[in-house]
Parts: sequence; structure tokens; C-alpha cells
Amino acid sequence: METIQDVKMNVYKFGNKTADGNTKMKNLLGGKGANLAEMSLLGIPVPAGFTITTEVCTKYNEVGQEETVEMIRADVEEAIKNVESIMGSTFGDQENPLLISVRSGARVSMPGMMDTVLNLGLNDEVVIGLAEKTGNERFAWDSYRRFIQMYGDVVLGMKPESKEDIDPFEEIMEALKHKRDIELDTEFSIQDLKDLVYDFKDAVKKRTGHDFPTNPWDQLWGAVVAVFDSWNGDRAVYYRNMHGYPANWGTAVNVQAMVYGNMGDNSGTGVCFTRDAGTGEDVFNGEYLINAQGEDVVAGTRTPQQITKLGSLRWAELAKVEEEDRFKNYPSLEELMPAIYNELNEYQQKLEDHYKDMQDMEFTMQDGKLWILQTRNGKRTGAAMVKIAIDKLKEGSIDEKEALLRIEPNKLDELLHPVFNPKALKKANVIAQGLPASPGAATGQIVFFADEANKYKNTILTRIETSPEDLEGMNIAKGILTARGGMTSHAAVVARGMGKCCVSGAGALKINYKKRTLVVDGHEYHEGDWISLNGSTGNIIEGKVATIEPELSGEFAEIMELSAKYSKMKVRTNADSPKDAKVARRFGAQGIGLTRTEHMFFEVDRIKAMREMILAETVKGRKEALEQLLPMQREDFEGIFEAMEGLPVTVRLLDPPLHEFVPHQLAHQKELAEEMHISLDAVKAKIVELEEFNPMLGHRGCRLGITYPEITEMQTRAIIEAALNLKEKGIEAKPEIMVPLIGTLAEFVSQEEIIRTTAKKVFEERNDTIEFLVGTMIEIPRAALTANLIAQRAEFFSFGTNDLTQMAFGYSRDDAGKFLPIYIEKGILKVDPFEALDQEGVGQLVELGTERGRSTKPNLKVGICGEHGGEPSSIEFCYNTNLDYVSCSPFRVPIARLSAAQAQIKAS
Ligand code: ADP
Ligand code: MG
Ligand code: MG
Repeated sequence: METIQDVKMNVYKFGNKTADGNTKMKNLLGGKGANLAEMSLLGIPVPAGFTITTEVCTKYNEVGQEETVEMIRADVEEAIKNVESIMGSTFGDQENPLLISVRSGARVSMPGMMDTVLNLGLNDEVVIGLAEKTGNERFAWDSYRRFIQMYGDVVLGMKPESKEDIDPFEEIMEALKHKRDIELDTEFSIQDLKDLVYDFKDAVKKRTGHDFPTNPWDQLWGAVVAVFDSWNGDRAVYYRNMHGYPANWGTAVNVQAMVYGNMGDNSGTGVCFTRDAGTGEDVFNGEYLINAQGEDVVAGTRTPQQITKLGSLRWAELAKVEEEDRFKNYPSLEELMPAIYNELNEYQQKLEDHYKDMQDMEFTMQDGKLWILQTRNGKRTGAAMVKIAIDKLKEGSIDEKEALLRIEPNKLDELLHPVFNPKALKKANVIAQGLPASPGAATGQIVFFADEANKYKNTILTRIETSPEDLEGMNIAKGILTARGGMTSHAAVVARGMGKCCVSGAGALKINYKKRTLVVDGHEYHEGDWISLNGSTGNIIEGKVATIEPELSGEFAEIMELSAKYSKMKVRTNADSPKDAKVARRFGAQGIGLTRTEHMFFEVDRIKAMREMILAETVKGRKEALEQLLPMQREDFEGIFEAMEGLPVTVRLLDPPLHEFVPHQLAHQKELAEEMHISLDAVKAKIVELEEFNPMLGHRGCRLGITYPEITEMQTRAIIEAALNLKEKGIEAKPEIMVPLIGTLAEFVSQEEIIRTTAKKVFEERNDTIEFLVGTMIEIPRAALTANLIAQRAEFFSFGTNDLTQMAFGYSRDDAGKFLPIYIEKGILKVDPFEALDQEGVGQLVELGTERGRSTKPNLKVGICGEHGGEPSSIEFCYNTNLDYVSCSPFRVPIARLSAAQAQIKAS
């Protein structure tokens, strides 16, 4: 039977220290709504309001506007009444009007991704009532002007027409500022504001053909629907796809009584963080503006002030502002409004303690009273994420498991990449200084538009300021540089979320979009010029700066140690060279899961011998060519085994079709013919002979070793001899020889016999032995199905999930680019199965192969190599399937180690 609690409502109220919902209801109320409810319950001053659920949004996407509005109309009307009674004013009333904000809020925060409308409920009559009620005509008209601007943009589609154009409303404002010879919005006279309202409405009529809506209820429903629609807007869709959030989550709509930061010098608005989102340092910080509303702080049109005195002093030093000037013109909130500051400080501590994590908060001061408008777990860089988790652990507010679960595996990547070489930095030519908005080192060529971020390989997106439309370009660029905006500007917040280097608010930069130039101190830079950004100091440097490997000590090392403590599944690496092996070992790899021997054949002197082998007409000719390759391979293996001393190294025998090794350009074919003293036609004929309709299903893998056993012989010899050579030097090598692409037991046996016979021969020659294993890749569905048979002989399995995915789906990886993106766009596939293992289908082959293999050999060692070995959701699956190890590329090893620990913690 259904109990009362199970009945979900469409509308949840909050305010006045009560709430229908709470923070646990993020899926239904969105993050913003759930936390507004929670704050209200905690007794924190939150303007009264209500949340329309994400399920209503999903319903809206199915049935459309009319039916949805009918479904929730009565609830919304009742909820508005509740707000009216708490606030003591009436929606749409001309004498005592209630104004509201309509805010989006998905279950995860998507900063700036969706749209918000403030001051809703105003029209030509209400504005007069508001002016009279507050005795502040300027404020009333400023609010009205803002409302038309936001509603016009969000609901009526008044956007700039092209990328070089500015916002249509901004354009009107700029023109008026020019006429009045003023710089700031705050300098407009009351008459100016009235003129702007008139001009804005006029612009709306011209562009849309309709009058601006005057009925507050029409305005409200228009805004609600626009918020629902914004869930499917380009920005939101891009952000969702980037993070793999499904389309059916929907967004909630929060409707809330307005509080006004634009009521004069005793009012204002701000954003704050309970810790430093860039470095993780435990310092309260943030920015505010007096006599401002909503996004003014973030928009970067006025220079925001720091909340704490410490922050203000640090800022002044970077911005080269003298103390006298700072204290007079840019005082901190702590200095300017100590009582409000103390209250805010109390709430930030209370909220961080309550949520046990760094909070990102929004607040507004209306005529000396503080209101909190939002709190959420703050976005942060990888470095801050690691530091905060470890600090919280040491404070005792979370335990080790929770600390590990707090880390987003993929964000560890940021900590592994090069940083500027301190020596090179000393010599660097610093051309300007901005704010250190998001740490990191970036070098690239200047581009001025987000949609040109891929114009060069490495770019620095250089803008006056960024907006949510720029998201994709920001993601592509190596670094982000803005002339305007503070530490909480859009650019700064988004960059930190992406872990991307960002320098913001570099006021000395003069950017001209039309000319595509950047002028600093009289020096002109152009699109394509190289610059470097130091996101930790805010320095902007001319040209390129050399980098070095980062230190992997401190909190990072602690997280890795904890990962080891909580994970029994091992993490190996895919490495084809001693260099990669060393990198991976530094990151904590516990062996090599895949060495692709063919990668060793592509170097200049080797490819020649390889080609001779392929072109040889006789076994004898082939053996002669292989003779040349033997010492090279042996040397490679020695290097790799040495780098992995004492740890297992899985070596895969030659796998790709031979066609990949022969030259395809005429000039190279001629060269080859000359070198080999055969005719060009003979070379061409051989190449034609090697051509296949579908090489991925052709003559490759063990099929090569079966048709040309001497290849397997040579490779085995190289492996065993290398191991023996190292043994003489006192270095332990643990080779695991892996036969690729088998589908039947007989295929495996044919190769295994060659391997064992060859090894035996070498042992006799050298009068010494080593231990080694012979196993196979499971990458053909038939092999997975017959794993119980194959395990009779194979000593280990390694799931090659790239090929396994390819063959299970019947998609060719090389051709899938033509349709996979469309599949994902249409929702036919949720994610690219070559990125995240398809657990539902391909996963069954892994489970079944493992079970059947172990039914024959209970201790069979089973692992996975292939891209999936470094992908967190696939790693979790591998853990739950009882695999012994995952193997991934060196730079993903830390990510995999953490993911393995998280999988184990989640399962326990
Ligand atoms: P976002 O999700 O992009 O942060 P928000 O819904 O939080 O959008 O709102 C945008 C801005 O408007 C924020 O600065 C927020 O604090 C402010 N704001 C929202 N609702 C109100 C309100 N009722 N009163 C005053 N300011 C508000
Ligand atoms: Mg703190
Ligand atoms: Mg917000």
C-alpha cells in the first residue's frame, strides 16, 4: 500500500524556517531547490519560495506546455499565496507588489548552463507601486530595466545575432552610456532608466513582433516554460554530454521571493566559497558588489570587492592597488559591513560543517539584512579536490572511505600534467598580470572566439569576458584569459570546474574582436601569437615557457596510499617502451598488462627489416629478416622488463595485419624496391596481395603466427633471452606471453606449442631457465563462449575489450565515427561503447568468459587491457566481475587505482 510519504508532489514549498523538501531530494528538486529547502530547515534566512520538480519537466517534455501547466496550476497558485503571506506582499498587486525570481536547477549544478529571470511581476503600473512602497524610484526602475532585459533574453529569445555582435540590450545601454558620457550602470539617472525600459520594450516589439507581456501570471508561466526548455538548449546539452548526464533528468524550477541588492549603498550581492576552490586552502573567500543584483558580480562589468580583509589585501597586491586606494574604493565586506560579514561568516562555517564539504554560496544584502540564495558543494580544481578531501579527513569530519569517494577519478588527470619549469619562469617575459583564477600552466596560440578554439593545436582563448555560450571552446582551449571579471567570474568558475588554467580580470589587456588583436602596454599581439598563462600567479607571459613533470607528493600521494589500502584488484599499465613503463611505475602501476610488440617495429631502422620479412618469398628469406629483428626486440624487452623489475609483464605477440607495415606512397615503394633489389612491380604486387576488404577481421593476431610460425619463434626467443640476460644481472623479469585474437582452443594450442618449444630450446642453449606464463587475449566472442576449453591450456586471460566490443556490436572502430556520434545524439546509445564498457552486452561476455575459464581453472588469472581499463565505470564493473587486474595507459594509472578502491568501497 502507498503511504503518504511515497506520494510525490509537483510543487515543494520552503521559507520561514520550514520546508516540504530537504537536501536528500536532489533528484526530484534539483540541487538548488533541495539545498534551499535544507537551508530553510537549518534556520538560515532564505527568501520564501517553492520548487517545481524535475519530474514535471520530464512530463513537460512528453506532453507539452498546455497539459503541464494545467497539471500544476492549482499547486503553483497555492504556493504563491504561501509566499505572499510570508513576505506580506501580493503578486501582481500595484500598491504592495511581490516580485519573484524564476530559477532553474538540475540535480547536478551546471553553472550558468540554464537560465534565471529576476524581478518578475513588474509592469508599467507595478513599477510605480514599487517605487512608492520603497520610496526608491531609482531602484524600482533599475529592477524593471533588469527584468525586461533578462526576460527578453531568456524567454523571448533576444540574443545577439552573430558572434561579433553584442547583446541587443547591452547595445542600447552602451549607446546611452556613450551619450551621457558615463561608464557604469549605477550612473544612470532615473530618467535614463525609464528611457531604457521604453527602448527595451521597443526592441522586443521590433524583433519579436509582440508586445512585452504585462500580466504577471503570463510572465510567470512564460518563465517556467523557458526554464524547462533551457534543459534542452545547446549549452545544457553540451554540458550534459560532456559529463554523461542523461537527458531524462530534467531541471527543476525554483520560484522565489525577490530580495534586492540594488536598493542603494546599504545593499549588495555576492558569491563566496568556504575554501579556496583553486588550491583547496582553508580560507573563506569571495567577492561582492554594493548596490548590485544577481549576476553583476560574475558578469565582470564592475570590479568586484573581496569579502575578507585577507583576500582584499592579496587582491590589491596582485592588482597593484595602493592600500589607501584599496581601503577607500575597494574595501572588504569585513571592513565595510562588519556585522553582515560576521553573520555571513557564521553561515559559511555552519553550512560547510553541515555538508562536510566546501560550499559555494550566493548571498544578497537588502538594506542591511543578509539573505542566502544558494549553497552547493563547490566546483574545484583537481588539486583542490585532493587537498580538501585529505584536510577534511584530518579534521575528522569524514573517514578514509569517504575521502576516497570524494575524489572524482578523472580529475586526478590534472595533477599529472607538466608544470612550468621554475628556471624558465625566471627568464619569462611577463607582459601583464591578471587574477590567478584557476591554477595550471598553459602555452598556446591566441584565439579570440570560442568557436575558433580548435584553429591551432594549442590555443589560449582570449576574451574580454566569457559566457555560457563559450563552454565548448573553453573546453578545447589549453588556457583561458579574460580582461574582465574576478575570481568568481564565469570564466574563473567554469575553468576551475574543468581543471583548466585560467587568468581572469587582466585589466591591462585591450582586446579588439573585430581586428582580432590584443594590446598590452602599446605592444600589439595578434591571433596566432604564442602566449603562456600561469594560473597559479596570474602571470601572462609572451611566447612559450618550458615545462617539467609535476611532483606527485603530498596529498596526492596520500590519496594513492589510501587507494592501495582499499583495493585488492591490481592496476597494471599498457606500455610499449621502457619510458612509458617507468612513467607508469612512478604512478604506481603493478605490472604491465599489455605490451604491443608491433609498436617496436615502426622505428626507421626496424621498419626496413620488418618490410623485408613481409616481402620475403621464402621461409628462408623471412627467417633472415627476422634474424635482424631479433636483437632489436630483445633489447626492447630488456628495457621494459628492467623498468618493471620484479613485476609481471604481459607481452602480446604480433597482432596487426601486415598491410599496416608496408609503404603506401609510391616514393617509399620505390625506395623499398631499390633497397631490396627487386622491381617496383614486385613490391606493388605484394602490397596488393596483402590488401584486405576488412583487415580488422582479416589476416592478423594468431593467424599471423599460425601462417608464419617463425614470427612467433623469433618473438618468443627475444622475450626469453631478454629475461635470461637480466637474470644474469640479478634483475628479475616475469614475462607473460600472450597470444592475440584466438577464437578456438586449437589456435591457442598451435601457438602455445611453438612458444614452449622455443623457450625450451633457449633454456638448453643458455643452460638456464626462468619462469614464464603463456596465456591469451579474449577478444573474439567465440573465445569468451568457449573459455572453459581455452582455460585447459591458457594460464591467464586478458580481455581485449576494444576488439571484443567491436565484434560484439559488429561496429568497426575505424568506421564507427560515421554513425556513433549520431547514435549518441539520438539516444540510441547512451555512451560510446569504446569509451565505457557496455556492461549490458559486452560485459556479459566478460562475465561469462571469466566464469567459464575459472570453472576449468579456479585460480585462472584474469585481467582486462584496452581503453576501458582506465575508465571508472568499467573499472567498477571489472571489480564486481572479480578480475585480478585492469590495465590502462600510464597516465590513467592513478585514476584506475582510485576507481578500483572506490569500487571496492561501494561494494562493501
Ligand atoms: P545560476 O544557476 O546560474 O547561478 P541562479 O538561479 O542562482 O542562477 O540566479 C542567478 C543570480 O540571481 C544569482 O546571483 C542569484 O543569487 C540571483 N537571484 C536568484 N534569485 C534571487 C532572488 N529571489 N532574489 C535576489 N537574487 C536572486
Ligand atoms: Mg572554513
Ligand atoms: Mg546560482
